[in-house]
Amino acid sequence: MKFSRRDALKVTGFSALAISLLPRVAFAARNSLQSLRTGVQPNNKTRLVIETANRPSYSLAYPTNQLVVSLSNTSVNNSVSPNLASGSLVSGITQAQVGDTLKITVNLRKPISEIPKNNIMVLSPNGDSDYRLVLDFSAGTPPVQKKDVASEYGTVPEYTTASATPTTAITAARKYVVVIDAGHGGKDPGCIGRGGTREKDVVLSVAKKLKNKLDTNGFKTYMTRSDDRYLKLAERAAIAEKKKADLFISLHANANPKREMKGFSIYTLSEKASDEEAKKLADAENAADKIGVEGFTEFEENIRIALSSLQQHAVAEMSEEYATGCAKAFKKASITQQPGPDVRHAPFAVLRSTVPGALLEIGHLSNSSEEKLLKSASHQDKIVNAIVRSVKNYNFEV
Ligand SMILES: [Zn+2]
Repeated sequence: MKFSRRDALKVTGFSALAISLLPRVAFAARNSLQSLRTGVQPNNKTRLVIETANRPSYSLAYPTNQLVVSLSNTSVNNSVSPNLASGSLVSGITQAQVGDTLKITVNLRKPISEIPKNNIMVLSPNGDSDYRLVLDFSAGTPPVQKKDVASEYGTVPEYTTASATPTTAITAARKYVVVIDAGHGGKDPGCIGRGGTREKDVVLSVAKKLKNKLDTNGFKTYMTRSDDRYLKLAERAAIAEKKKADLFISLHANANPKREMKGFSIYTLSEKASDEEAKKLADAENAADKIGVEGFTEFEENIRIALSSLQQHAVAEMSEEYATGCAKAFKKASITQQPGPDVRHAPFAVLRSTVPGALLEIGHLSNSSEEKLLKSASHQDKIVNAIVRSVKNYNFEV
């Protein structure tokens, strides 16, 4: 984990190290700046949009009354002149080439506080637009200056934070937070196999193994439940929010009236189900809430209001990216896949949050051969290893 692709991406400032470790990164196509613009959002937020030809690899720094966005492996583009909206916090933007890095210096009318992660989005090309790094910020207390920060360029110390700075050492990298959700529990057994295997027990066993393995791989993990207890779906999502999770993985096992049906399937949140089967499954999984007494809809409402459509788009995109990689890892581990697309979509209540994530149906308890497999330690290990691989391969930085 120390030298994972993600970490190497974070330290591309140390180009010699990055080259020796990851030629794929070092020789990646050079990125180019396409446009720069600002806008004014509700609540006096300023929006900065940096459009680039390829997916940007960026870091942020906060010198006095400035925001510096460093884009690695990117060239200065003097044909781009910033389009500045009146009434924003930005008084001017300049570009400078520093080694391989394009430094975009944003001059501010007022100091800003550190931009929280959920106000930073990377959007994929869409219509006439290329990749866009979108930053929303407001006036506030600037981040505390780090003393004696040796910048890779030997410039003045920058106001930085560990999570946003590619120039800090690998050992100082923040641990990514993964919340593991074992579905069902307590009075809600989930589905039950013909041999009596209960979904809630199988997924808890897999969840515990997954936690151990992710911990040893350098992730910070939390479980929504570590014993046989009942939790509402929104409470599970609330735990992911509270822990400021980078990724949310909800573990389930499936049942199908067709006893021959088997295999894993992976889902992300969408208000519209991708197919009839996905819709039925979401209905069945969401029904877990009907077992409870007290409601939690207030939380769900708050989350919906808090998420702008742009954020929803960003979370959905990150979830899709994770889910696609997860399906790939399962297939690579030769775990049987349920016939159909790699990633399906449905309105799962447990996935409604600001945290990217996926719901994994790890197999069918209604199929007697798969029920036996799902109970076996070796098959559970196989599933856990595939999920760990998918988490390690997920790009947490964008
Ligand atoms: Zn379930």
